[in-house]
Amino acid sequence: MATDTSNLYSEPSDLSGLKGCIPLVGLTGGIGSGKTAVSDALGKLGAGIVDTDLIAHQITAAHGVAMPAIQKQFGAQYLDSSGSLDRAKMRALVFAKPEARKALEEITHPLIRQETFNQAQQLFAKGVPYLVFVVPLLVESGSWQDLIDYLVVVDCPEEVQITRVMQRSKLARAEVEGILQAQASRKDRLACADLVIENQGSLAELDAKVNQLHQKILQIKKEQLSSS
Ligand code: ATP
Repeated sequence: MATDTSNLYSEPSDLSGLKGCIPLVGLTGGIGSGKTAVSDALGKLGAGIVDTDLIAHQITAAHGVAMPAIQKQFGAQYLDSSGSLDRAKMRALVFAKPEARKALEEITHPLIRQETFNQAQQLFAKGVPYLVFVVPLLVESGSWQDLIDYLVVVDCPEEVQITRVMQRSKLARAEVEGILQAQASRKDRLACADLVIENQGSLAELDAKVNQLHQKILQIKKEQLSSS
């Protein structure tokens, strides 16, 4: 869940070797818009999913590869009792201090980049039909947009995002609003989209839209193959 911003500018430069070999789909959307719901459904249909948010969590879980450097930089007080990053504490710190955000990103971004690359290569080698990169701040990062072939934005009204995230992550409204403000506006995100998935209805409606998206990407793959 993108309740912090530690993974948001991971650059995809190492992935450029895959361009033209397999459709590269970017999947983004504001906090709580439904990116995970969409990527889970695409994964069930056979897509290769690389979730940079999940990777950011894995590397900052107990024994995660980022934890020794985080402890060294910020002190043991930013670890919880299990040895994971204390997300609430770190979120408060990076919102208050840009230099702390920078220090955190200098630790996490290279590790996220490496793992993103590894997972993409492995999925490609397995023969998945296309790759989906779930990147919460894809639009904000800029660098992803040159790499991907197709940008899918999951969208819903801000009020729906706020309600979902308050429920799911047990955050106060003001905290969710703060995160929303740090992200691109809906308008800016939608302006970059090749396709928008509206996710304000039921999960069954979302499933039907995801099925259509899957077919569309398979069609793109066919066109890519016939033009190569
Ligand atoms: P984040 O940016 O925080 O990682 P996200 O964009 O990945 O969030 P999800 O985790 O997919 O969003 O969805 C946020 C919450 O809303 C989850 O609890 C999910 O189960 C719920 N949700 C998503 N879509 C729907 C829907 N169409 N109907 C009901 N609940 C939904």
